[in-house]
Parts: sequence; structure tokens; C-alpha cells
Amino acid sequence: MTEPSTGTTTQSTKRIQTETMKVITRFAPSPTGMLHIGGARTALFNYLFARHHKGEFHLRVEDTDKQRSTAEAKEALIDGLKWLGLHWDGEIYFQSQHEGRHREVAEALLKRGEAYYCYCTADELVAQRAEAEAKGEVFKYDRRWRDPKATPPAGVKPSIRIKAPLTGEITVKDEVQGDVRFGADALDDFIILRSDGSPTYNLAVVVDDHDMGITHIIRGDDHLNNAGRQSIIYKAMGWDIPGFAHVPLIHGSDGAKLSKRHGATGIGEYAVMGYLPESLRNYLVRLGWSHGDDEIFSDAQATVWFSNLGAINSAPARLDFAKLNHVNAHYMKLRDNETLAGMIAAYLPHDAEHHPVLVKAMDGLKTRASTLVELAEAARFYVEHLEPDEKARTVLLSGKEGLRSLIPTLKALPEPWSAESVKTALKLAADTSGKKLGEVMQPTRAAIVGSMSGPDIPEAMAILGKEESLLRLNDALAA
Ligand code: GLU
Repeated sequence: MTEPSTGTTTQSTKRIQTETMKVITRFAPSPTGMLHIGGARTALFNYLFARHHKGEFHLRVEDTDKQRSTAEAKEALIDGLKWLGLHWDGEIYFQSQHEGRHREVAEALLKRGEAYYCYCTADELVAQRAEAEAKGEVFKYDRRWRDPKATPPAGVKPSIRIKAPLTGEITVKDEVQGDVRFGADALDDFIILRSDGSPTYNLAVVVDDHDMGITHIIRGDDHLNNAGRQSIIYKAMGWDIPGFAHVPLIHGSDGAKLSKRHGATGIGEYAVMGYLPESLRNYLVRLGWSHGDDEIFSDAQATVWFSNLGAINSAPARLDFAKLNHVNAHYMKLRDNETLAGMIAAYLPHDAEHHPVLVKAMDGLKTRASTLVELAEAARFYVEHLEPDEKARTVLLSGKEGLRSLIPTLKALPEPWSAESVKTALKLAADTSGKKLGEVMQPTRAAIVGSMSGPDIPEAMAILGKEESLLRLNDALAA
């Protein structure tokens, strides 16, 4: 499934008809791990294309490989798609529930003379492969049971193989890759039904796509070779071949295939890192697809613009965290304060009583953070009285006089405090003690925030309130 394409490519001569047919797409993950960022983008392309054409988007869980499929991975896929907001139509289609149908098609292919029983045992195939490799050749099953001279051996359960064409070529018309040609010499009579009666991947995919009425297959280009094989099955059954769009994989910033060492690969990790689903949707659709120079667009715009699979880039896109942060910063600003405060609570030692404080704090903080984690860190001093960091300690060492002058002024300041009234008090304290405003303001920031950066300090003190602000100033004086 992952070998490089053996086909040759030219510009496609075909555009899939989308005006006259109902577009039906699917995302077909195997539940063997988390929802990968590349898979998420594939799902998003399928989703948008279907929505644009007022068609349907389906979720098919390809769980035929019982050894590798797990219930946790299935949950992670479903949770990841829901979190991203990619809602599928109808029920989830579980591939494993359709094995009977896959067998039925394998048998139909036998009847049509398009497939045959192969009695080679696993041991024989291993020996044939070893022999070929010893000669430095690529192993290809020698089709010995295609037109058998021998009688089938007793006691051997046969597998079923498709008859691949012996001459000519198979052309996959791909919206992204162009026409990809597979010469007959590159194709083998691959197994469609194993000797234990289980379908192979290529058979199951074709039967399910046909039965689900899929009109467009949009998936990773690691499946391009499979498209060649799958086309043989479609033709042998006399079925219409859906449109194909094989999307290049996502690469890391260094141009190598995306892996753990480039950072997060699972959608769940992006959620934990503090990215919003709408940011990822916007960033991912823009990754390898474009609409002019537009970088930021709403879901509604993406749906209107994502009309043509030919606009997907045929070169791999590189994941760029700086861009993603930029997009996320944009969408965080658009979220209302109530929601943001609720979201960052997960990162903070937080109880319900702090919620109103965090809500008030958002206006001053959300314009400067690019992830929820950054936002939570910036808001931490609102819910925790933090130890001053090194810079703040230095400022406090020389700034105690400034604090001393401020405390009586603040004590006299009537409640409720506002940013304006606290600012006036700071100025008054500076004036009456003959100091510059900064000499009062800086140690105040150090005492209140515990660091020399952060939001507007009068505003922060107004949000924290009189009691907590005075407590922190007195603590700093006593330290
Ligand atoms: N189950 C395959 C995968 O997860 C995808 C099959 C397909 O899209 O045709 O890679």
C-alpha cells in the first residue's frame, strides 16, 4: 500500500462530471491508530467536496484487519472527526460487517471467468519469492493456476486471484495526478479472497465503494498503485469506475514525510496543544489547496470555493507551525470570552468560582496568544498567586517604596474598582510620593502578575479586585 507509484503520469484528459450526478464521497480510515493530521485533511477534502456539490459524505471504518484494528483507535477516529466538526451523513459503515458481500463478489468474478482458484500454499509462495529474490528479480506470482494443467491438490484450500490484463495497460484518470498508466507487465494476478475466506483490502474497498455509490474517491497518494489494481476489479465486474483524486501526503518543514520528529501527528495532540477546530479546518484545507492568495476563510467560504479537485496541488505540502499559529490566533480572537474561559480551564488549577474572573480577563489576553495553552499561561496569575520570576524579583527588590506609597491609596479607593480608577490611584500614589509612574507601576506588576509581561496592570487589578490585589502587594512587601 505504501510502495511508490509504478504508474506513469500525464495530464488528465477527463474532468469528472459533477453537475449531473449526486456527489457521494467517503473517508475510509483503518482503525489502527489515532486520526492522523493527513487523514484529517483527506476527510476534510471529502467533506468539503460533498458539501459544495450538495452531495453526501460518508464514514467507512475499514476494520477487516482484525489483528490491527482496535476499539480505542475506532473511538479516537470518531472523536477526532467530531472534534474537527466533520459530520458524516447516515450511519457509519463498518467494513467487517460486509465480508459476506465481499465473498459473493469474489465468487461472481470466478463465474464471470475474471478470477480463478489458486492452490499455491503460503510455503510455496515464500519459496517462489525467495527464488526470485536470489536471482535479483522482483517477485511476481507466475500465474501457474490461471490456466492450470495440473489437477488441484487435495486438502489445499485455494485463494481466489483476479485475472489482471496480460497485455496493454490500465489508465487511472486522476484529478490531481493526471492520467496514471500501469503497463500490464507491472500488474500481477493479486489475491482478492484469501484461502481462509477473508477478502483482501483491494476487493473490500472496491465492493464497498460500489455498494455505497461512491462517485469520487479522494485519498492519500500512497493508494495510487491500489487504484490501478482496483480498476481491474471494477472492469471485471462491469462497474462504473469512480473519479479518483490522490492527494500528496503532508510533509514536515524539512520536506521529509511527516513523522513524530516533526511534532504532533495526531489530531488529538493538536487539540491538547490548544488549537481550535475551526483553525485546523482553515489551515488544513489551505494546505495543498488554494483559492487565490486567501489564507483566512470561513467554513461557508471554503464550501463555496472547494468545487474542483483539480485545484489540489500535486506536490506535497509542508506543515508550517508558524502559519498554523497565525491562523489559530485569528480564530481565538473571534471566540467569545465565555467559551474561551471555559476552554482554558482545562489547563489551569481552576474551580467554578474563578470562571467570572477568567471571562473578564479574556479581552486583555486573547489578542496576544496564538494557542489556548499560551492563553491559559497568560491567564494563570488570575487563578494562582504565582511566585515572582527572576526579573520580577529584581524589580521588587528595588521597588518596595513604590509599593508602600500605593497601598494606602488603594485602600482608600472605593469598590468596585475599574481599570480607570486603579490607574488614577497609581498616578496619585506616584505624584504624592514624588516618583515616576513607572516606579510605582513596575513593582506593582511584579507583585500582581509575578512577571514583567502581561496585560494592562490597572485592568488586571480591577479584575482581581481589591482584596486579592492588596493581598499580593502586601505579600510582596513582606517577602
Ligand atoms: N483504509 C485505507 C487507509 O486508511 C484507506 C482506503 C481508501 O481510502 O481507499 O489508508
